[in-house]
Amino acid sequence: MSVAVRFAPSPTGQLHVGNIRLALVNWLFARSQGGSFLLRLDDTDLERSTAEYAAGIERDLRWLGLDWDRFARQSDRLDRYAAAVERLKAAGRLYACYETAEELSLKRKSLLGRGLPPIYDRAALRLTDADRARLEAEGRTPHWRFLLEHAPVEWDDLVRGPQHFHGRDLSDPVLIREDGRTLYTLSSVVDDIELGITHVIRGEDHVANTAVQIQLWQALGGPVPGFAHLPLLTDATGAGLSKRLGSISVASLRDDQDIEPMAINSLLAKLGTSDAIEARMSLAELAAEFDMAKVARGAPKFDPEELARLNARVLHATPFQAVAGRLQTLGFGGIDAVFWEAVRPNLSRLADVAEWWHVAREPIEPVVEDAEFASAAAAHLPAEPWDDTTWSSWTGAVKSATGRKGKGLFMPLRLALTGRDHGPELKNLLPLIGRERAEARLAGRVA
Ligand code: GLU
Repeated sequence: MSVAVRFAPSPTGQLHVGNIRLALVNWLFARSQGGSFLLRLDDTDLERSTAEYAAGIERDLRWLGLDWDRFARQSDRLDRYAAAVERLKAAGRLYACYETAEELSLKRKSLLGRGLPPIYDRAALRLTDADRARLEAEGRTPHWRFLLEHAPVEWDDLVRGPQHFHGRDLSDPVLIREDGRTLYTLSSVVDDIELGITHVIRGEDHVANTAVQIQLWQALGGPVPGFAHLPLLTDATGAGLSKRLGSISVASLRDDQDIEPMAINSLLAKLGTSDAIEARMSLAELAAEFDMAKVARGAPKFDPEELARLNARVLHATPFQAVAGRLQTLGFGGIDAVFWEAVRPNLSRLADVAEWWHVAREPIEPVVEDAEFASAAAAHLPAEPWDDTTWSSWTGAVKSATGRKGKGLFMPLRLALTGRDHGPELKNLLPLIGRERAEARLAGRVA
């Protein structure tokens, strides 16, 4: 059977790097196995889900290149969950409970106070028909719990290795709330069965859910899939990342921090694996290198500086055609392939082209500390046309004429020509600046 995986975000916030790592690992697993990738929006929480967040999730995934073969929305599938509820009721695996949130919280506190795990005591199972009728007459509506079997639950996790749980150590999960809404624990399993999911790859915050959900898979007659639970990303201090950390949302990396999608993909595909983290220019390369066995159990740290470093590497290898449209949008439609190749080794972010465009094409304040030397150098500027050999023939002539060499020769020229002590190689930049500007700048004029 071919592999089928899903990424199942809830559209209750923006995707952040932690979510994207899970989306990416699912996607890479599917692509490396010739399988399919489903995007499923877990949008049954109507109060917190919004159409804007849903659109944002799709936009972020597309921008990263994480295309999906299939799409599902839980709010379109409510009748499927209702049908599963009927089957579970018929099989005697759902029971009505009437405790209020306060009553449940008191029970939990009392168990914890006695040093016991806060497992639901199944008091509702002992209610008689008369008890239930009385509670309902009092105006209480039931929520429904799934009756777990008190039996071992085991699976061999693709990341965590063999996992052992026992039904008696788990609380019977609530599957239907008082307001009739089915909860994620059930809807997710119904979808995974009906949409033929073969591997559930998600965060390790779902390990306990998996123990419960395996019994649901069995109760609903679906084949139990394979599981991989990945450790959650932490920040540099080891604290957890959350959706509230807007600075690492994909939207902010894209729109505010000008980060390249392949920098994000390169980092998140390798973070927390045994592979070195290096820039890759395509998802296909990452898929070819992907192997779930390389994913480590320890929590990986997300380091924004590592992302910035990869971003620069990606830009330095990006061909002109791949950025021409974006340069146009940024207002640098005048940049051509020669210009791009001259400045790209000096970019940390795409928007940095603005600085070198300014240096090459707009008036700048030159820095001339030794006017005599600068004017001697200007006297040797050759006639145009200029190309990438001009710098070396010109500085050769200036060297012979002035006796200067090394830094003493090059730095004053750089400062005069660009107004800065750093920047792209002058052999590439000089032809972009052109003779007229170069001559004026060497004379100390704004040009
Ligand atoms: N909507 C769930 C979440 O965002 C999906 C978990 C899962 O992959 O099953 O946590």
